[in-house]
Amino acid sequence: MCRSEPLWRSHVQVREPSVSRLHRGCRRFERGRAHVGTVIPLLLGEVVAALERLYPPHTASSWDRVGLVSGDLDQPVSLVHFAVDPTLAVIDEARAAGADLLITHHPLLLRGVHSVATTSAKGASVTALIVNHIALYVAHTNADAASPGVCDALADACALVDVGPLEVVDGVGHGRVGSLARALTLREFAQQLSMVLPKAVSGIRVAGPADALVSRVAVVGGAGDDFFDAVRASGADVYVTADLRHHPVLEAREEARGGTPYLVDAGHWATEWLWLQSARSELLREFAGRGTSLNTHICTLRTDPWDFVIGAATSDNTGGTS
Ligand SMILES: [Zn+2]
Repeated sequence: MCRSEPLWRSHVQVREPSVSRLHRGCRRFERGRAHVGTVIPLLLGEVVAALERLYPPHTASSWDRVGLVSGDLDQPVSLVHFAVDPTLAVIDEARAAGADLLITHHPLLLRGVHSVATTSAKGASVTALIVNHIALYVAHTNADAASPGVCDALADACALVDVGPLEVVDGVGHGRVGSLARALTLREFAQQLSMVLPKAVSGIRVAGPADALVSRVAVVGGAGDDFFDAVRASGADVYVTADLRHHPVLEAREEARGGTPYLVDAGHWATEWLWLQSARSELLREFAGRGTSLNTHICTLRTDPWDFVIGAATSDNTGGTS
């Protein structure tokens, strides 16, 4: 009977494929009945409200698609899984961990879809989320802009002080710029950053003389080649971002005549992965003092899509523009 069989009785039961929890015609979740004698978990609606306080949806770019993608606001949430990308492997990791909610930085459904059949990867992802009763929530450009958000996490990784927005548009701060406590050579700076970033196959690419001193640093997590004008205006010695393409980078280096701003491409996934810990801390802080049963887990999978590199030049300044 639907009314006497709460959909979320325990993690063990919800993960058993033989137990059907989604009953046709029964869309009500019975608060508390599934957890008699235990701490009543938060409801998804409460977690979503907290996320929207941390990462207000109206601060997202107009082209973006943020917020709740799957799930029921009345479904209990006991375990939250944080990841950069909602790939099939990540969803499977969340399922294996027993997560009720997957929070990702990148949207699963940025463009229109006409089917969520498992014949496409997107469809298989949506289906996997729904059949495993995993809610998906996306905080993307609103998390980039938030403070603390994605760019603050990258600024922290760069050990910046006196941090402020790189650019303010319509009252929303984008990117961050700040200073190092002491000047470092460009090589030292990149090496220091590499120690705190998760490892990706592409490593960190640097444009600029390795022995040049840098102290003022601009950062934008993820793809940041739209911000070169703001970086130049900020007086930054070095700009840390990712997904830097040949032409914008070459033109920026030409414009700099070999001088500042030097460029560091630290990888899209790596520069945004840093935010996951911040998001976890901020979400837990939202419920501090509530005696909540909320548990969290950060994705252990590297969703940077590159698997290996061959033929890379190993020396500095082998004919670039510096
Ligand atoms: Zn991104």
